[in-house]
Amino acid sequence: MTGIHRFTIGEFKCTVLSDGSGIFPGGKPAEMMFAAAPQAEAEAALRERGEPTDVMSNQINCLLIDTGEQLLLVDTGLGAASQGGMGILLDSLREAGHTPDEIDRVIISHGHGDHINGLTDESGNLIYPNARFVFWRSEWEHWTDEAWLSERPEMAAQAARKHLPPLKDHLQLVDSESDIVPGVRALPTPGHTPGHLSLLISSGGEHLIYVGDAFLHPLHVEHPEWSAVFDTSYEDAAATRPKLYRRAVETNALLLVYHITFPGLGRIVTDGDGWQWQPEATA
Ligand SMILES: [Zn+2]
Repeated sequence: MTGIHRFTIGEFKCTVLSDGSGIFPGGKPAEMMFAAAPQAEAEAALRERGEPTDVMSNQINCLLIDTGEQLLLVDTGLGAASQGGMGILLDSLREAGHTPDEIDRVIISHGHGDHINGLTDESGNLIYPNARFVFWRSEWEHWTDEAWLSERPEMAAQAARKHLPPLKDHLQLVDSESDIVPGVRALPTPGHTPGHLSLLISSGGEHLIYVGDAFLHPLHVEHPEWSAVFDTSYEDAAATRPKLYRRAVETNALLLVYHITFPGLGRIVTDGDGWQWQPEATA
């Protein structure tokens, strides 16, 4: 369990803010992370990496970007321990030298509870009172549509019903690849959810891709088609990943992945016709 990791992208000061780590309750890692894969093959790949095949760990890496003009937070974690979360995001933010009222924009990759539970407190008040909240338009529309919510798992629907309505007068919705603020570009990466967004963050010729949950595990780089049980559309998620990997290689971008071991940074390198994940060496 650790708090923060600072790095720069050109003039932008970036900080990975941990929301904690723990064990994900439920089934086996291969069944959940690689539901679309041949299970024996996925388990063998996990063993080869020295990873357990019986318990699944969960990590959460949020991102703080100080552009010099704006302070942006990307995703808000599982929420306070009192609400069932791992709950260290606000401690990490404090450790980074900032308070919630300083955040100008909160960008949400998608509407799952482990990304939105940290938006409001137990009383339903906005934790980031001065922020505008950025979503892909269709993502916002899905998670605030009762007909669609009623078909989602109850826990996911409850999180959306609780944490999203308080944002409705403070929204910035995007529906095409475009800059949210100069140097911070929304990329459509549908599949994990219908309106999942990733970010291309660029300054001084350097690039960072905030992946969110467009892929969840390093093995998804080698096997883009091994979609997870958490992916709303296995096919769309599998189609999105190669596009993101090509973009990462073209821009020589550093990547931040939400659920990979802290600090979750690495690069995509080409390997024949495919790709490999290369973790970033960090001090
Ligand atoms: Zn997630």
